Amino acid sequence: MKIKINENFNNLSKNYLFSEINIRVKKYIENNPDKNIIRLGIGDVTLPLPKIVVDAIKKAADEMANQKTFRGYPPEYGYEFLKDSVRNYYGRKNIKINNEDIFISDGAKSDLGNIVDIFADNEIYIPNPVYPVYLDSNVMSGRNINYIEGNKENNFLPMPNGLDNNPKIIYLCSPNNPTGSLYNYDELKKWVDYAIKTESLIIYDNAYEAFIDGKYPHSIFEIEGAKTCAIEVSSLSKMAGFTGVRCGFTIIPTQLKSGDTKINDLWKRRQATKFNGVSYPVQRAAEAALSIDGEKECLKNINYYKNNAKLLADFFKSKGIYYTGGNNSPYIWLKCKEGYNSWEFFDYILNNASIVTTPGSGFGVFGEGYLRITAFNTLENTKLAIERLNKIL
Ligand code: PLP
Repeated sequence: MKIKINENFNNLSKNYLFSEINIRVKKYIENNPDKNIIRLGIGDVTLPLPKIVVDAIKKAADEMANQKTFRGYPPEYGYEFLKDSVRNYYGRKNIKINNEDIFISDGAKSDLGNIVDIFADNEIYIPNPVYPVYLDSNVMSGRNINYIEGNKENNFLPMPNGLDNNPKIIYLCSPNNPTGSLYNYDELKKWVDYAIKTESLIIYDNAYEAFIDGKYPHSIFEIEGAKTCAIEVSSLSKMAGFTGVRCGFTIIPTQLKSGDTKINDLWKRRQATKFNGVSYPVQRAAEAALSIDGEKECLKNINYYKNNAKLLADFFKSKGIYYTGGNNSPYIWLKCKEGYNSWEFFDYILNNASIVTTPGSGFGVFGEGYLRITAFNTLENTKLAIERLNKIL
């Protein structure tokens, strides 16, 4: 074939993080068949869907089985009933958004990956370490990427100090995957003020919002002026256990403009062309999850994970080990033992405690020397893991 391919794909890093983990774990199991492995590397939810969600899916499935209530293609931007639910969910947190600003999707990853379609060749600023999708989707489009370094000095919360005044696209993830750290009101305001001053755009990944307690912003739109400089991408994956159901939403305020062009109009056009909407039962499920009763049920699962996170965080604190997260997040980001890099510490914990973690270097160069531990396992396994770690740390 003589078809020209997108050469930018050659610039993607050969990130073998999860396959390399699997190889090492498989080898360990082969050599130690009677050891009971505890997986604290999981970035996926493990508790089943709340009943209110399952009931909504079943009811919607029955409607689809009936000629009178059957529905075909859904609206490209989502059913109004679900947009109402999203708007009310924000409203209960005193954040005002309009249905026209809301776009329903099959998850945050799709929207984060696809949003590059509507922007030309801008300077891209990405925190490091962070969820790898921002980087890879921009590399695929051949963009010029700059890292904003997270480190112990800034508690893995990079700020705009020192950045130039050129317009740029800035990705922020708060609470952050993998570090679990999150911006407070003052810090987020500094980012919003910087974006307004430099006529930049913030793409705000809010996937872990449901883990946040009251005193931190639940949305970038709590910050004054954010509607003129930010897009918020959100997900039901962690909030309602939808990793296998697939639903999320992106908020693009109609006020957000570059020159005279509304970004909301561009996204509408993009979605209408390339996306045919989320299935009706899934949108009913999301509506149920975001309702007042649904939110309460979802919070029970979130609190279960948060309790695990707190146990782990308290343990590392008692050991005097530096970490971020563990509070307002399912992740704990841990400094490796003196003299160990991320992979060496990963091996040390696997070989001595039969616990699987995730090496921090897999989330970017500035993650080297750290490890991510997650709270998505059972309470029993989390407690057992702490007992084992206590013997080796
Ligand atoms: N954003 C962050 C920071 C994540 O960690 C994840 C998944 O782990 C996603 C987005 C993807 O969310 P979704 O399941 O809605 O595609």
